[in-house]
Amino acid sequence: MVSKERGIGLQYPVPWNEVEKETLEHFQAIVRMDTTSPPGNETVVAEYLKTVLEKEGIPARLLALEPNRANLVARIRGNGRKRPILVMGHTDVVGVQREKWSVDPFAAVRKGGYIWGRGTGDDKDNVTAGLMLLLLLKRQGVRLDRDVIFLAEGGEEGYSPTGVRYVIDKHWEEIDAEFALAEGGGGILKDGKVLYLSVATSEKVRLEVRLIARGTAGHGSIPRPDNAVVRLANAISRVAGWAQPMRLDETTRTYFQRLAGISPPEAAARYRAILDSHERAKVERYFAQHELRHNSMIRTSLSPNVLKAGFRANVIPSEAEALIDIRALPDEDLAGFGECLREVIADPHIEIKTTMGRPAAPASSLNTEMFAALEAAQKRIYPESVTVPILLPGATDMSPLRAKGIQAYGIGPVVDDEEVGGAHSDDERILEKSLYDFVRFLWHAILEVAAEK
Ligand SMILES: [Zn+2]
Repeated sequence: MVSKERGIGLQYPVPWNEVEKETLEHFQAIVRMDTTSPPGNETVVAEYLKTVLEKEGIPARLLALEPNRANLVARIRGNGRKRPILVMGHTDVVGVQREKWSVDPFAAVRKGGYIWGRGTGDDKDNVTAGLMLLLLLKRQGVRLDRDVIFLAEGGEEGYSPTGVRYVIDKHWEEIDAEFALAEGGGGILKDGKVLYLSVATSEKVRLEVRLIARGTAGHGSIPRPDNAVVRLANAISRVAGWAQPMRLDETTRTYFQRLAGISPPEAAARYRAILDSHERAKVERYFAQHELRHNSMIRTSLSPNVLKAGFRANVIPSEAEALIDIRALPDEDLAGFGECLREVIADPHIEIKTTMGRPAAPASSLNTEMFAALEAAQKRIYPESVTVPILLPGATDMSPLRAKGIQAYGIGPVVDDEEVGGAHSDDERILEKSLYDFVRFLWHAILEVAAEK
């Protein structure tokens, strides 16, 4: 496997020093474009990418539902022996609280081995890597068994109708592919070593549930048995106390197996025990207290996050409202779940309204050419490490692609601290070396899965 891959690598030698300089230049230029969503203004990035691509003879198209929120698509053609691969990154970013930042969030400052700015880790790294990939494929004249498509989509944050939804609905033929690569994976650097590289193969399904309790309004001096606030509070406490059974699938089972292989003894014992139906109860309790992400990966979760009720201390309000963030496992029976929720709340005076974001979609397989190619690329860039498949608790634009039958995998660069400077946080930043490694990783993964052998 490795020697074959090395063969392809040798066939297309890349001047990585020069590529790094160029990567930095494009990355900084893109981070400096403020594409905070809303309003987005992703067209400035799409235009930039189009200019760079077309200068090298790669045709690119803007696809836009709204003129200021364009997506960009470009394609390097192969011989058509295999179905295309789609490489995707989103050009919009979430907002910033400037006063909480130690640098200008849109200056792409280089400092301390990092590049700082909104979007450096989410998701202008993937956008830049996709751009560099196309430039390199073209310059090296790589002979491909399949087309390589690059989609720089807008509107990912908040799942805007202008982004991937629009491209899927109106321009499906431009992105139809066997495999897709997008955000959501990455690696953890510890003591100078990459612990593991994660590939997101699955994600939870987001449902927003609104509980509306109704009662009779009145004077606060005369309490009523149908007080809407009390009704709502009781409903929330029942929802919060509703235990969800744990469930593993191919992704999470493999995740814990591989994690056990690289963890210190105590943690490794936990990850092995969670796979064992006789031993898991104790570990489940441990996860619920100490490993919250793992707790969320193995069960449907409910988190009451917004409360709205009342306006004066001496007025009994007639309505009270709560928002509950539900994240269902990908195989959850959503209709059945809704029924159970109604039974758990057990109050006919509470209205339950559910809105769904991205569609539910099956997990992508670990047994594909693409997953094997990602593992081969990881061995090349981080030979001391291991690839682990993960189920994302959060939502990405991979689920609408998976729902259309594409096998989609989330990848990303290596970070040195999971708690600080990550996606959506103040002082978001990326290790400069990680960005360059990520470009190489993507290049090798794509050669492995798409180059003629
Ligand atoms: Zn993102």
